[in-house]
Amino acid sequence: MANAMMKAYRACPRSLQTIGINLVETTSWALDRSPTTGRYLEQLKAVQSWSREELDRYQSTKLRQVVRYAYDNVPFYRRLYDQERVDVESVRTVKDLDKLPMITKEDVRINYDDLQSRKSVRSKVQYTSGTTISPLKVRISTDAIKLNRASSLLRDHWAGYRGERAARFVGDQAITDCADTTLYRRSFVMNRFLYSSKCISVQTSRRILDSLKNNKVQILQCYPSAGYILAKFLERYDEHLPLKAVLYSSEPLHGFERELIEDRFQCRAFGFYGQIEHAVTAAECEKGSYHLAMLDGVLEIVNNGEQVGEGERGSTVVTALANQAMPLIRYQLNDLTGYTGEDCSCGRRTPTIHPVESKADDLIITPSGRIVTPLAITSLLKSARNVLEGQIVQGSIDSLTVRIVPLEDFSAEDEELLQQMFTSALGEEITIRVEKVGTIHASGAGKKRRVISQISGDPFDRAFSEVEEK
Ligand SMILES: [Zn+2]
Repeated sequence: MANAMMKAYRACPRSLQTIGINLVETTSWALDRSPTTGRYLEQLKAVQSWSREELDRYQSTKLRQVVRYAYDNVPFYRRLYDQERVDVESVRTVKDLDKLPMITKEDVRINYDDLQSRKSVRSKVQYTSGTTISPLKVRISTDAIKLNRASSLLRDHWAGYRGERAARFVGDQAITDCADTTLYRRSFVMNRFLYSSKCISVQTSRRILDSLKNNKVQILQCYPSAGYILAKFLERYDEHLPLKAVLYSSEPLHGFERELIEDRFQCRAFGFYGQIEHAVTAAECEKGSYHLAMLDGVLEIVNNGEQVGEGERGSTVVTALANQAMPLIRYQLNDLTGYTGEDCSCGRRTPTIHPVESKADDLIITPSGRIVTPLAITSLLKSARNVLEGQIVQGSIDSLTVRIVPLEDFSAEDEELLQQMFTSALGEEITIRVEKVGTIHASGAGKKRRVISQISGDPFDRAFSEVEEK
């Protein structure tokens, strides 16, 4: 929500907030029920039984159209392909992709205007969550948004979710004051309860678990870290909360997290892989494999600039097939994964990829027992001005350093704003220090961790004991 809207929302009584939330949720409702989304969902289901040849033929046909369209309607590609002397007509199949130059996030940042199609396409502007790199602006066609949504609905269907009562723990700000007696707002429109992940703490743990039980929630929609925290609470109270499925996205789910989540909620967790650029998606099936959607984009795995074969891992390079507003062709997304090259025992024939690896981040614990997820804390960096990348380090229970790589225009005012944002999000109980650095060092595996906790021991024990001591 935009700042002005948030301010107005905060000032409203609970009943009006609920009406507001339900109004906002009608957008999701309409998206799910759009005939186009429904058609895409049926297509995505049909694709599951296609042979490799059929999939290849489909992607190659679409690819030819996208490349031709981009050359004719998008100034950036016209310039780039002319410069590189690329004959766009020579790109006939997916195998010809390497005749085209790759483009980077930096290219997108610098050439945003020239990457827009000169044709009028219904679209929305979106921002990638600036975590290790400052947010990137992209334009996504309404069509691509619907296809993306259909792909995540496919995952929901595989998980057996058909609109049962859900609880959602993502970045929503439904609750503005964690002292609120009700820790959620009810979305009647989407039949779910919206919690604010910023209000997850050891003090609220009992009430959150009780409300999930009392509201007879059957589905959990969450970031893996939030799901893990809830499972840790159940473990702490030695309880189980049987659900139908846990649906997660946005972060990888580590083995130990899955184990605890599936044990405490007595159901399977189903992941969804996608990105703001709406280029490729993959849905986790009941056998734990990530199946590519195939209709939305072509995924290449690249190592040192060269495509690698099935079974090998590398960085992702994607070509979106459905976004005519701002085509992304051979775009270096740089997630780490690879084609498994194996047939999945679920019987679906679409190619599968390894779970996308990303940075292993830590949780932030506040002196009053709040547990802050990596996504919640790094999303603050998204609003930082003139910052290239950042990293958050909790040195002790009451101190936190925000390391940033400032851009040229970074001013004292920007620093002040950054400081204020973190203070208002975490409270006065933690001292925030902004540290300007030239670069954020990568860890051993070459991955940059966004959030590092230097507090020793189990963070949950620490959080509970901090509060019990008082
Ligand atoms: Zn499968």
